[in-house]
Amino acid sequence: MHKKLFIPGPVDVAQDVLQKLATPMIGHRTKDASDLQRGISEKMQKLMYTKNEIILSTTSGSGLMEAAVRCCTRRRAAIFSVGAFGDRWYKMAEANAVPADKFSSELGKPTTPEMVDEALSTGKYDLVTITHNETSTGIMNPVEGIAGVLKKYPDVVFCLDTVSSMGGTRIEVDRLGVDICITSTQKCLGLPPGLAICSISQKALDAAKEVPNRGLYLDLLNLYKYIQKKDYQYPSTPSLPHMFALDYQLDKILKEGLENRFSRHLEMANYVRDWAKKYFEMFAEEKYASNTLTTIKNTKNISVEGLNKELGKRGYMISNGYGDLKEKTFRVAHMAETTLDDVKQLLKVIEEILGV
Ligand SMILES: *Cc1c(COP(=O)(O)O)cnc(C)c1O
Repeated sequence: MHKKLFIPGPVDVAQDVLQKLATPMIGHRTKDASDLQRGISEKMQKLMYTKNEIILSTTSGSGLMEAAVRCCTRRRAAIFSVGAFGDRWYKMAEANAVPADKFSSELGKPTTPEMVDEALSTGKYDLVTITHNETSTGIMNPVEGIAGVLKKYPDVVFCLDTVSSMGGTRIEVDRLGVDICITSTQKCLGLPPGLAICSISQKALDAAKEVPNRGLYLDLLNLYKYIQKKDYQYPSTPSLPHMFALDYQLDKILKEGLENRFSRHLEMANYVRDWAKKYFEMFAEEKYASNTLTTIKNTKNISVEGLNKELGKRGYMISNGYGDLKEKTFRVAHMAETTLDDVKQLLKVIEEILGV
């Protein structure tokens, strides 16, 4: 039996979108491939509110996170972490011998504009990474305020991880001044895992020119130059099945309307938050709660694993807490094509199982 997924990726994918993965192959050095890739870039620019170039990568989101910190840090990176994915970015810097410092917030709390200002005022950093939406704690960082601070430091490259939020909430890349905005397919975009997407600004490209060892496969400058020269083709063979599906899904997203899509996500978030407060507690400070998933504090000391087992028998799946937060929290994703009715149904089944 297929379990309906309420986990923060991979998400359920609509049947018609899944079928696009089975599109007969085309040559990746053909005009059709160029047209496909150019079309995706134009649609992604709408979704991201940017005029910056779009780069696709046949990796999960982590691939482009590693690429960003490696290719564009000239002197030293300031990595802001509010949980597992910020920590991962710091490990990537370390593993690539990129000089970096990590600025962590207490779990469940955001990165504040003040923290960013304090770090950058030292003049030590020329690249900043921010997790927009932390999928472990359910925090959505105050990106407007952080972007305001970044405007005071025009030489600093601003990298934003929107893997679990892009497509579920409004993130205006150009207005915020994000230089590298990263997302991937298996979360709010409603596609299978396997493709990452970023926007890249001229400032980030100029920074990369000053970095000697950017790797090869994930060299953002090389990828950028290649797609400019070869009409949106890529140096290596890209995942064409994902591209067929992404192209089609982006049409569906734009047809739903971005405003409608974002409101649907917020409506689901509000419903889950109210439910969480009725029976448990929110883990994230509510002012910073994510619109795409909710992390719930396990105040009733239930067995989350046991609950998920029971849900499984009934055709549903949620997520346990991430890492150290396992059993202490659990997570309900409300992203991609999930509807408010789906969410209501799930929560009702949980109430039945728990007998509350
Ligand atoms: C899912 C996710 C990623 C990417 O993880 P992969 O394992 O590479 O798919 C990065 N950041 C956040 C916030 C995520 O939720």
